[in-house]
Amino acid sequence: MPGLFRYLFIDMNSFFASVEQQVQPALRGKPVGIVPIDGTDATCCIAASYEAKACGVKTGTSVPEARRRCPQIQLTLARPRLYVQFHHRIIRAVESALHVEQVCSIDEMYGRLMSNERSPQQAAAIAERIKRAIAAECGPHVRCSIGIGPNIWLSKIATDLQKPDGLVLLSIDELPARLSELKLTDLPGVGRNMAVRLAAHGITTVEQLWSLRESQLHRIWASRVLGSIWYAQMRGEALPYRPTQRRSVSHSHVLAPRLRTHELAYQVMIRMLHKAARRMRRLGYCAGAMSIYVRCEGGRRWETGCDLSHAYDTLTLVHHAARLWPAHPIGAPMKVAVVLLKLETMTGCALPLFEPQRRMNRLAETMDAIAWRFGRDAVFSGAMFAARGSAPTRISFTQVPDDAEFDSADVGYVGEVAPSS
Ligand SMILES: [Mg+2]
Repeated sequence: MPGLFRYLFIDMNSFFASVEQQVQPALRGKPVGIVPIDGTDATCCIAASYEAKACGVKTGTSVPEARRRCPQIQLTLARPRLYVQFHHRIIRAVESALHVEQVCSIDEMYGRLMSNERSPQQAAAIAERIKRAIAAECGPHVRCSIGIGPNIWLSKIATDLQKPDGLVLLSIDELPARLSELKLTDLPGVGRNMAVRLAAHGITTVEQLWSLRESQLHRIWASRVLGSIWYAQMRGEALPYRPTQRRSVSHSHVLAPRLRTHELAYQVMIRMLHKAARRMRRLGYCAGAMSIYVRCEGGRRWETGCDLSHAYDTLTLVHHAARLWPAHPIGAPMKVAVVLLKLETMTGCALPLFEPQRRMNRLAETMDAIAWRFGRDAVFSGAMFAARGSAPTRISFTQVPDDAEFDSADVGYVGEVAPSS
């Protein structure tokens, strides 16, 4: 069926350990544990070869425990630069058969299949070409599992179904039966907290998860956006907002002369934050950090920021922004900007376990829905007043500029940060 297989995901098998086995023939066929520091027991394995995995050694196993489970284990000091070199060779090899759309980590990447590459035979042929190219570029001991599926999420899951050296095509009509061996926590995006939450709803197997209606997923995820993302991805839909790795959402505004006061700049900043937060949620992300910038007349700049714990709802963001905003005027502000960064897909980050936070998330989404439907000022957070209580002066909300004035000078964009940063 054409169009069924859209993505091809590559997951290197025991990457660090297999690179060592490739470059050190003496390690081949042996249990190998990669350690970050030499000559101490007070560390753990950051990678294990398949032979070591067979003895129960895995990433995170402490050195004493690894020796206990596998007395013959060969502990090898990690060589990050070597692994990065191999990483680049792998990308080169894959590019010879398929464009790498996204590098997810040092040992994971994916590409999108073109419309003439989506039959099972064509997709499998590309996978075989990739495997041959990696073997030629890196050596036969550096192997990968390739998953092919209708979306990125399912193709990544497919890489887990056969290891090492796997090649699995996962089509929608095999779901969820083909995944019956997997635990819920094997699914990307289901961490321990989420598994606890699912269990609280009586969901303990992959089949049960697949049998849920979309409205039930909304309830369990405490979010219409997330519930719908899960519903769609389980059914093989290719979600447009997940493929590119966005790392920041920002909005900035050049202040009209009458707004160049400490107080009004604050309100504009809060407004920018509302917009950035809405855009972030629409893209399906939560924020791991926030920055605020102010440029003053005379060129003086002020900037600050803080880390956040998977912030998703506007009120939480406003609370942090209010705390960050300078207590005293720093000059005549000319431009303000807010940046939400360290973005994570909501399906990939820990979700709020407690009802108050889930209520906040639902509230944020409800406000978004109303804003999209009726214009953005139909609902506007009253929290800025409360948050403002800690700042020096209170001013009337009616002074906030109207939208026409606002949008003309608005610069909002979704940015990308180089992965190396
Ligand atoms: Mg891997």
